[in-house]
Amino acid sequence: MTRPERAPAPKRAKSARASASAAAEAKAAIAPPQLDLFPVRPVIDVLDPRSVVGAQTGVEHLVRVRLRPNDAPHLIFHDRHGWYCESHGPTCHTVQLARDEVK
Ligand SMILES: [Zn+2]
Repeated sequence: MTRPERAPAPKRAKSARASASAAAEAKAAIAPPQLDLFPVRPVIDVLDPRSVVGAQTGVEHLVRVRLRPNDAPHLIFHDRHGWYCESHGPTCHTVQLARDEVK
């Protein structure tokens, strides 16, 4: 004894899977693509050199860069020697982030 109403069952299951997959695709489309590449954005604070170093300072720019909020900060100076990180020197990769920030 075959019941004709059983036939649509696999079709319903397939369409349920299809709509679940479509929902997952829609969710993925909403999420910003750069979220996976840069899960946390650097924290960059432009400081006032005169209030940090002193009123007579020749430092033109002073920028504090944290690659993540809880990381130790890189202190980037821009003075007559050029741009450099206090801890790592001019080749520190946070120097470019600081330069971009004050540009
Ligand atoms: Zn550094």
